[in-house]
Amino acid sequence: MQNSPPPTAQGASPPFLRIAGSFADAVAPADFPSAVLRWRNQRWADETGLGGLTDEAWLDHFARFTPLPANLPQPLAMRYHGHQFGTYNPQLGDGRGFLFAQLRDRTGRLLDLGTKGSGQTPWSRQGDGRLTLKGGIREILAASYLEALGVNTSKAFSLIETGEQLSRNDEPSPTRSSVLVRLSHSHVRFGTFQRCAWLEDKESLAQLVDYCISEFFPGADDPDMARKASNLLESIAIATGRMIGQWMAAGFVHGVMNTDNFNITGETFDFGPWRFLPVSDPNFTAAYFDAQGLYRFGRQPVQGGWALQQLASSMLLLADAENLARSLIPYEAAYRESFIAHTHALLGLKPGQDEAGNLAFLQSFYGWMTQSKASWPQTFFDWFGGAVSDARAAASPQAGLYADTGFEPVRAALKDRETERPERLNHPYFKRPAPVSLLIAEVEALWDPIAEADDWSAFSAKTDHIEEARRALAL
Ligand code: AMP
Ligand code: MG
Repeated sequence: MQNSPPPTAQGASPPFLRIAGSFADAVAPADFPSAVLRWRNQRWADETGLGGLTDEAWLDHFARFTPLPANLPQPLAMRYHGHQFGTYNPQLGDGRGFLFAQLRDRTGRLLDLGTKGSGQTPWSRQGDGRLTLKGGIREILAASYLEALGVNTSKAFSLIETGEQLSRNDEPSPTRSSVLVRLSHSHVRFGTFQRCAWLEDKESLAQLVDYCISEFFPGADDPDMARKASNLLESIAIATGRMIGQWMAAGFVHGVMNTDNFNITGETFDFGPWRFLPVSDPNFTAAYFDAQGLYRFGRQPVQGGWALQQLASSMLLLADAENLARSLIPYEAAYRESFIAHTHALLGLKPGQDEAGNLAFLQSFYGWMTQSKASWPQTFFDWFGGAVSDARAAASPQAGLYADTGFEPVRAALKDRETERPERLNHPYFKRPAPVSLLIAEVEALWDPIAEADDWSAFSAKTDHIEEARRALAL
């Protein structure tokens, strides 16, 4: 990897400029009183040709937002709308972020550098345009852990502490400030389409379809605009189904599945109050402000379908309802196949040949998980590799649960499956008694020493452990 030629990061004109006139507004970044580098994603910086930046240059680009050479001359706040908890809001848009640059990775994939907490914009409404340091830390943790678990996700690229005191009504205030840069395969949201429909702006909608197809789904191209729109919708439906199948296997609760938080490329995105499940529980709800449990764990697949229906409606200016409805059909199968594949991947197992058998395995496994209240991360860790991990599982802190007769059908089903790349079990990660996990109490415990004594050691230990898991799982 290190020896391949540098990516074509800069050079060609950023593709988003083709449509920026209809979809974004040039904005100025905030002028922060200070800039202290707290996180630099060196692996992804290397992937995108920015690995050689000195820390000083890094601060210059990612706290002061000096443009990257031959890239966007000015930050662009994106325009979008969206459904929030089922209610349409035409007043969204980047209220504390902007698109800063577009890069390519070594495979040629287009990646956006977008910000969070970089200052006010025309879309800030009553907001201060800022991000709390704790919020930035939470995003690094979630994105890194999701990546380690093989979930398609945006990446945290940079976090810089900015020296302001912020006031929030759901956190002890004043609290410290930061600016985050995230790397993401598009910042086009379902709500970007919804805004065009709301404005009845057919021309911009067609421009957006063209942009999405040429940059993200070239296989969906067609000379006819109506077919192009339906093809694109189908590609987005499949990408979204795959993403949510991965969430369900990873025990990830996004928290705010508003349509402005869905990226068209099926990357996990804008996950504010996220949680990872401690135990299997379909009713687990991440956000304290989600009193109805609309976005609870077990509703995520349905909610993904609902968001896609809103996206489909927004394309009615270009294609007819019947074709659009047809484009949504593959969502369910994409979800189901991904849930099966990713459950097996996270257990280090090869899926069986037939889908019915695979679904029966999932039913047995998750049924036991829900009923036994076994620890979600510990169970996946203990049984990674399947039956070959019998001895490891017998030494687990929750070995008692596996000795129960209720576990027997699961044990039999695990025995029935082949291990995928068994050599991974030789990694030191699997020699320890417990996996890395990211339960809410742990996240809070990482924050406390930072808040009280500016002690980052627990946070660093956690990100190191996550990186070790990423290498060990090699998904
Ligand atoms: P989010 O919950 O991050 O998806 O944001 C929903 C909307 O509120 C988006 O339009 C954000 O840009 C905006 N927003 C959230 N927090 C702030 C803030 N502190 N200042 C300005 N706008 C914000
Ligand atoms: Mg959002």
